[in-house]
Parts: sequence; structure tokens; C-alpha cells
Amino acid sequence: MIPPVAPPVRLPAGGRLTIDLAALAANWRTLAAVAATAETGAVVKGDGYGIGLEAATAALSAAGCRTFFVALPDEGVRARAAAPDATIYVLNGLFDGAEPVLAAAGLRPVLGSWPEVEAWAAFTPAAGQKSPPAIHVDTGMNRLGLSLHEAVALARRPDLLAALRPALLMSHLAVADQPADPGSAAQLALFREILAEFPGLPASLANSAGTLLGTDYHLDLVRPGIALYGAQAIAGAQPLRTVVTAEARVIQVREGEAGEAVGYGAAQRLRRPSRLAVLAAGYADGYHRAAGSSDARPGAQVFLRGRPAPVVGRVSMDLTIVDVTDLPIVHRGDWAELFGPNVAVDGVAAAAGTIGYELLTGLGRRYERRYREIGA
Ligand SMILES: *Cc1c(COP(=O)(O)O)cnc(C)c1O
Repeated sequence: MIPPVAPPVRLPAGGRLTIDLAALAANWRTLAAVAATAETGAVVKGDGYGIGLEAATAALSAAGCRTFFVALPDEGVRARAAAPDATIYVLNGLFDGAEPVLAAAGLRPVLGSWPEVEAWAAFTPAAGQKSPPAIHVDTGMNRLGLSLHEAVALARRPDLLAALRPALLMSHLAVADQPADPGSAAQLALFREILAEFPGLPASLANSAGTLLGTDYHLDLVRPGIALYGAQAIAGAQPLRTVVTAEARVIQVREGEAGEAVGYGAAQRLRRPSRLAVLAAGYADGYHRAAGSSDARPGAQVFLRGRPAPVVGRVSMDLTIVDVTDLPIVHRGDWAELFGPNVAVDGVAAAAGTIGYELLTGLGRRYERRYREIGA
């Protein structure tokens, strides 16, 4: 027998996310001012870098963004529902057999290999002008994109170009987050050479970091992602406004004696009599296990009652322990900031040996989510 369906009560969550859509919109406007001679699009793949694809797309659309980039057809369909009139590119290209799905939703494939070029050219009379594609050329990453050789070959194929009627030529920067690296300038030079083979075709090269590298990289359209969401785009640089605040509930405060061990593996021993707060979030919530600490190495810090508090011992699936000995009284029911305005997401990521992108996109589904709307 199927059990009766419970009424939709909201049960208390261990963690909560506050997502500031006004800050997201402000960050987009900041980048649009930086790239004032180009159009500023937005990348909303990875569920809008973890904040919710529909919410991100709708907020950016209201801020004036007209061109969106997603990775997958499914993300494109979701973005289309949130922004009915926008231009939407699917970065991972044309999956085998996905032509009708893309055309029906008016999604534009970013064609990144010769088989994709041929498949879309064969299909495109049916797609009409609703889905003019982008052509992706690889200029030094060996990920997606036609080789230089293939790009030149395509430029000399009027039959294919007439069938495709591409709307954009794009490439992607590999090392833009390291401004001292000469690789970006080399990619730009190569991209300009290819661009000369496609006269009149609008061009796009810059992600967030590329947008911040300077006007040379802006071309006709910039494609920022991470900077919109308040994390670091360029190594060591100050991010834009904080968009995501992740917090975890304090479920108990306990005392530990000097010499006692904390958590799985007894990885860390207390050096003094300590007060420990136990937080109801762990690696199942995307708070990485590698953010934990041991006797050999420190871990991440949270922010609680106005002060930083270090993680003690390993992060477990649903729980994280922090040292609050030096804090004012901490109560059961308090909320600890895992990252947000007081704890940089990139700092937590660095403690876990990763990047802000991975923390944001891996937040998990157990948080209560609260959106601060534009104008609220
Ligand atoms: C993800 C992605 C972007 C956005 O990159 P950020 O570093 O998040 O700004 C832009 N272009 C392509 C092709 C991408 O895959």
C-alpha cells in the first residue's frame, strides 16, 4: 500500500543559503560597464553556478542581459522558460540526435567539432533562423572547438556557411585567471587570425577573467560566469559583491579536554580544554571533506557570533565541528557562516584544495534556500 502523502510542511534544515539576486544583477552591471564597447552576456550553466538556473536567468534578464550560455540542452530548456525572448547558446554543442530539441526551444548550439558542423548544416533548414549556431574554434586548450585547420576549411566552404548561417565565432581562454601568463595574448592573436577568415561575423572570447584582462579581449560579446556569482575570477583579485551566503545550524555545544581527539580518524587532538560547536552540515552539503583539519594542517574557518572559528578534525557527511573556545557564548540554534560576506568562498575552497567554482556548484540539495529579490 502506498502511504498517505504528508502535507507540505517545511521541516527544519541543517543548512541555509541566502542568495542575493540584487547583488547578482549589480555584478552583471559592473561587468557590463567594464566591457562597455561589447555586449555582456551571462553564463548560467551548473544550475546557475549553484544558485538556481531559473532564478539566475530571470534576475539577469531583468537586469538587461539578453544572451545566456548554458552547458546542456536541458539547461537550455530551463533557461528558455525563465527568459522567453533571450538568445541562449548551448556550450557543450550538439549532442548526437539533439537537433529537434534545440530547434524546438530556439536554442543555439555552439558547434565544437566537424561532425557537429555537418550534422547541424544537414538539419538547419528545419531549424530556420531561430537557432543560428556559434562556431567554436580551439586556440590553445584542446577541449572543445574546431582545430585551426578545420576552421579555415569551414571558412572556404560557402555551401556549409550558407546552410549554417552562423551568428557567432567563439573561442575560450585557458589561463586568463593568471594575467602574467603570455598564453592569453597568444590565444587572442590566433583568434584574430581566424576571425579574419570569417569577415563580419561577431566574435566572443572572454570569460570573467578575460573580461577583466582588458578591452582587447572584449570583442563583440563577453561571457562572464564566476564573477557574477561573487567569487574570484583572477587569482588574488578582490571579487565583486557576495551573492551566496551558506550557513549551518549549531546543534550542540560541548566541552573537550586537552589531549582528547575530535571526529573520525582522531585526526586532530585538542591542545587545551576546548568548547566545540557541532554544525549540521557536512560534505553531503558540498562542504568539502578536505576543508577539515588535522594535527598536521589547518582547515577552513567559519564565522560565528562575529568571530572566525576554525574547523576541528575531519568534516563528516552531515556534521562539522568548530572550535569556539575563544568566542563569546555560542548557543544551540545559532547559525555559523560557512562562507559569505565574512568568509570568502575562495578561502574555504583554498583550504580544501579547490576553487570557488567547485564549492558553489556543489552546494547540494539539502539547504533551505532564501532568495533576496531585486528591489527587496
Ligand atoms: C564556463 C565558461 C565560461 C564562463 O567562465 P567563468 O570563468 O565562470 O567566467 C565562458 N565560456 C565558456 C566556453 C565556458 O565554458
